[in-house]
Amino acid sequence: MNTATGTQTSHNNYLQGGGEMGQLTREFDWSKTVLGSPNNWSQSLLTTISIILNSRFPMFLWWGPELIQFYNDAYRPSMGQNGKHPKALGQRGADCWPEIWPVIKPLIDQVMSGGESTWSENQLIPIYRNNKLEDVYWTFSYSKVLDETGNPGGVLVICNETTQQVQSFNNLESAKNELEFAIEAADLGTWDLNPKTLKFIGNDRLKDWFGLPYDTEIALESAVAAMVEEDRERVNETIAKAMAKGSDGSYNVIYTIQNLKDGARRIVEAKGRALFDSEGNVYQFSGILQDVTEAFQLQVRKDEFISVASHELKTPITSLSASMQILQKLVKTDPASDKVPMFVNKASNNLSKLVHLLDDLLNVTKIQQGQLALNINRFDIVELIRDCTEHINPTNDYEFVFMGDEELMIYADYRRIDQVMINLIGNAIKYSPSSKRIEITVMHDDERATVCVRDFGIGINPQKLPHLFDRYYRVDSFGHQFSGLGLGLYISSEIITRHNGKIGVDSEVGGGSNFWFSIPMDDTLAL
Ligand code: ADP
Repeated sequence: MNTATGTQTSHNNYLQGGGEMGQLTREFDWSKTVLGSPNNWSQSLLTTISIILNSRFPMFLWWGPELIQFYNDAYRPSMGQNGKHPKALGQRGADCWPEIWPVIKPLIDQVMSGGESTWSENQLIPIYRNNKLEDVYWTFSYSKVLDETGNPGGVLVICNETTQQVQSFNNLESAKNELEFAIEAADLGTWDLNPKTLKFIGNDRLKDWFGLPYDTEIALESAVAAMVEEDRERVNETIAKAMAKGSDGSYNVIYTIQNLKDGARRIVEAKGRALFDSEGNVYQFSGILQDVTEAFQLQVRKDEFISVASHELKTPITSLSASMQILQKLVKTDPASDKVPMFVNKASNNLSKLVHLLDDLLNVTKIQQGQLALNINRFDIVELIRDCTEHINPTNDYEFVFMGDEELMIYADYRRIDQVMINLIGNAIKYSPSSKRIEITVMHDDERATVCVRDFGIGINPQKLPHLFDRYYRVDSFGHQFSGLGLGLYISSEIITRHNGKIGVDSEVGGGSNFWFSIPMDDTLAL
């Protein structure tokens, strides 16, 4: 009796505490399981259960050959709201976890047969909870618990659900991937300078731009060495300023890189931010690099264009107003003077120059707004070109040599093609001050009509050829030897592109130029 009371007391002692799970464990009818009533449980089982119930770490126990289950309050949330709890208490392992049994049974067997404890980190073990099969991550260890015979009597699982950590890590990882994708798509270089070592980490694109090796860390001075000399000091100063105590840390500078390997030039805009600790010392300095070569060149050309355009507009206006003043005087003093027709002619020439310039400017605006509409008709392009040369060369100063087709009917916008021809022939004349011969060839095959305008003038530097059809581009933008806005070829190229055609040039400095364009022969644009 005494002994019985003693055992009673002792097993009650071991099942004390443990919150909800403690209460459920105490109230459970264990006699219906193979373990029988708790007063018959072995000391090792009671001690283990006591540890489990009173631990704040999630713990779980499989005991005996049927792997009967115990767990504590800390483990309980992992069971979810409408899942296995509280049925799992006292249940056989195989009945409780059918969905993961093939994964965990071998681990249990390994431990039960006296093998090593297991360790699994952030392992995905989907479990059924909250009315669905959920992806749950765990870090856990299975270890044996010996019974009175000194053999493994059960498997203790100490575990931690790491679903949230794994998800945060995955979110971070996908945010990182998205960022990398955005950097890739935006064609950006990235850099992260260590202010202490003055070495930086950069992405491959940045290293390609500078012509630097693909080393993980690169000395800042190597990058500075790849900048054009005139920019180095300015960039060094801007970096020092951004990292200086008391600075707001912002960094923004435009400079030119000259690739250390192939010498290619690239204008880049670097933007970044330096971060400071509580004592005002810089601890991080990172940012991006953007290739602004095209935008920068366009801006430079735009600025040049404005000065060229003002100059170009001013010349005929000054002339025009001078002619008008003289005419006003003559009308009052000598209206029958033979100078009147001469100044009227002069005024009219300057006026048509102005109209021409304004036309070009208006055309550019139209192109930019996508309003360059075509009015497609069928006409003879050879006839158009002949008319055009007569117009342009009223005094027969230039010798036009026609080659190829003597007649060629095409589908195109007459006025626009006329504009292209005026521009090409006008340029051939303008840029051939000492040669009067201009050859014009019209050819065709089944698909395309091609027109070439060949002059024997000053020619063009091959390096400049790729930009020739760009907006505001002039080969010799500062020399005022030849007047012009740098718009004619841009407009011509847009007109030809709108006709689904191609435009190009072959040229040699001093050997003249051959400008050509080809447009489709078919009438698809007219339909
Ligand atoms: P512009 O009004 O300056 O002539 P264009 O767009 O017609 O403008 O031409 C762009 C530049 O291309 C010119 O500034 C000139 O340097 C060069 N160019 C065009 N045609 C010729 C040519 N036939 N020979 C030499 N250079 C040419």
